[in-house]
Amino acid sequence: MKIKSDFHSHVSHSSAHQVVEAAREKGLRVLGLSEHIFEMGEARHTLEHLPLEGPLLTFPVYIEAVHAAAHLPGIDVRLGMEVDFIPAKNDVIQGYLQGFPWDFLIGSVHEIDGEQFESEKKWDRAEGERSWLRYFELLRQAVSSGYFSLVSHPVRMRRKNPYLPPLLDEELERLAAEAARCDVALEINGYDVLSYPGLVRRLARACALNATPVSVGSDAHFPREVAQAHTQSEAILQEAGITKVRIWKNRVAEEYQL
Ligand SMILES: [Zn+2]
Ligand SMILES: [Zn+2]
Repeated sequence: MKIKSDFHSHVSHSSAHQVVEAAREKGLRVLGLSEHIFEMGEARHTLEHLPLEGPLLTFPVYIEAVHAAAHLPGIDVRLGMEVDFIPAKNDVIQGYLQGFPWDFLIGSVHEIDGEQFESEKKWDRAEGERSWLRYFELLRQAVSSGYFSLVSHPVRMRRKNPYLPPLLDEELERLAAEAARCDVALEINGYDVLSYPGLVRRLARACALNATPVSVGSDAHFPREVAQAHTQSEAILQEAGITKVRIWKNRVAEEYQL
């Protein structure tokens, strides 16, 4: 496996230590931990509509656990967070993040105008296509907001909404062009790769056409899921002609060659 990093992983079902151990065992060189901001007690009242995935943490507890896990030999550990992008709440959400030594921040669109689109919702075609277009609009806003190092899972809308808009590739290219302009990476996401690889392939193609920086993240919620789709992700990148993977330290981008 040539992909030696994973920059999207969660600790609340296990621990930073266990996730780093799993990454080491899988031969990764750099691991970015990125717990959800809505798992942090300080941010909870702003984001209480988002279901908890594990015991509530706090920023200092999370950060200390990541830094302690970083002492394990043989692997670089980077401190990150997955941060919801919600236009009406962004000022408050971003306020919580200030003053901490992040290596990278992931911007995620998990809701559209108050609706959690990964929940059990039934769409009809017109509404489904409209939601995709609104989703891309929000992703472009997240990219150009200046808040984030990368924007995650840009085709996650597919999880429950099969009504792809007719101009999907144009939308992906528009997003990829905006990301390239802003020097923000788009993510090849392990969950998406395992669930709808054809769509991730179209995303990768759009990134290649626009020379958009690309991050690879498993979106592991358990240690065993670290690097869960890296073999398939590598094939997708190779097919698209993408040869570099972006990673971050102290919010400064680095890239390595596949
Ligand atoms: Zn997410
Ligand atoms: Zn995630």
